[in-house]
Amino acid sequence: MELITDGEQKIVVLSAMAGTTNALVEISGYLYQGNKDSAKIAIGKLEDKYKKVVDELCKSEKNRKEALKIVDNSFTIMRSFTSGAFSEVGENTILAQGELISTQMVAVLMNENGHHTKLLPALDFMRIDEEKAADLPFIRDNIKKVLKRVGEADYYITQGFICKDANGEINNLQRGGSDYTASLIGAAIDAEEIQIWTDIDGFHNNDPRFVENTKKIEQLSFNEAAELAYFGAKILHPQTVLPARIRNIPVRLKNTMNPSDGGTLITAESDGKGIKAVAAKDGITAVKIRSGRMLMAYGFLKNIFAVFEKYRIPIDMITTSEVAVSLTIDSTQHLENIKEELDKFGTVEIDHDMSIVCIVGDIIQEEKGFASKVFNALDGIPIRMISYGGSRHNISVLVPTARKQETLVALSDNLLNI
Ligand code: ASP
Ligand code: MG
Repeated sequence: MELITDGEQKIVVLSAMAGTTNALVEISGYLYQGNKDSAKIAIGKLEDKYKKVVDELCKSEKNRKEALKIVDNSFTIMRSFTSGAFSEVGENTILAQGELISTQMVAVLMNENGHHTKLLPALDFMRIDEEKAADLPFIRDNIKKVLKRVGEADYYITQGFICKDANGEINNLQRGGSDYTASLIGAAIDAEEIQIWTDIDGFHNNDPRFVENTKKIEQLSFNEAAELAYFGAKILHPQTVLPARIRNIPVRLKNTMNPSDGGTLITAESDGKGIKAVAAKDGITAVKIRSGRMLMAYGFLKNIFAVFEKYRIPIDMITTSEVAVSLTIDSTQHLENIKEELDKFGTVEIDHDMSIVCIVGDIIQEEKGFASKVFNALDGIPIRMISYGGSRHNISVLVPTARKQETLVALSDNLLNI
């Protein structure tokens, strides 16, 4: 096992092993359907996979036994939900097993390899409040207590993703939430740096799945990184930047496959001007409300927002004209109800299968000719909406997902000079 050994204490936040959380989601799905047989088969398959991993990783018989006990314990918990009724607590308990197994197993392996390592049980300090937002003051107070309780070590290992809710029930920070755990912990202990390790060497200036010759970005500001993560750059959980920004702690994205590379560094300041990257977010729905009695009538926008607020659906983009307002949402949950309520305020049109393509950088709005550069690049692409000036870091355009790749390539060719 290769480790960074710089003599500094480290808290290592681990996610579940690849594919595990998806498998656990599948198992929970079967249990919700009452399909206990399929759940049992899926549990058995996953357990076999873990037993093989234990055999491959553990050198001594003593540790092999210990690791098998960890696996057995978690799978016994999972199987306990295959009889009786199934509920959210059951689901959250099952989803937590991936991180519980990975952390305990890695702690065994680290100690086997002579690294003084202790476990920090995330459920003793990670908490979300009634609004399901991370409770940073609670985390800060409690991680300190837990660190004291477990005593000195070179490495502390803890579970990403999992937490308790305001009622003390097991819960989680949503899919991909381990990054967010790391950043919350970094903020809670005022870490020197928060590092997120993935299998790519940092943020790229365009989506490598759709555009050739993308380049790694060396540096981004918190705001730029937040925009990129939110608008589709899959590498980072969108909320991760927030706690780091509050405490002004640098975040570094590193590549496990290439550890000596500096990755992308995210700090308060933006380094250099101009366009840094473009990214796209799919699965967007555009909603247009056209009103006879107009926007000018005050209260119109408020009434519209109130409908989305009622259903707790966040709005991503918004543009207005004298007679209509267009906005986008990334969830079709409650869309029928929302439409019904909006019908009271005007004619409602809904377009599905749209993508937001977002251009991020330190975009100086006064820079002459900038908007025309963007428009020229997008010549021939049907832009449904454009949002410019909301912040100096972002210009967003809404296009049909079918035209997304073409949009990304055009922006890359014209704005990123690749
Ligand atoms: N294991 C969780 C998931 O797959 C958390 C994470 O990987 O960040 O969503
Ligand atoms: Mg992850």
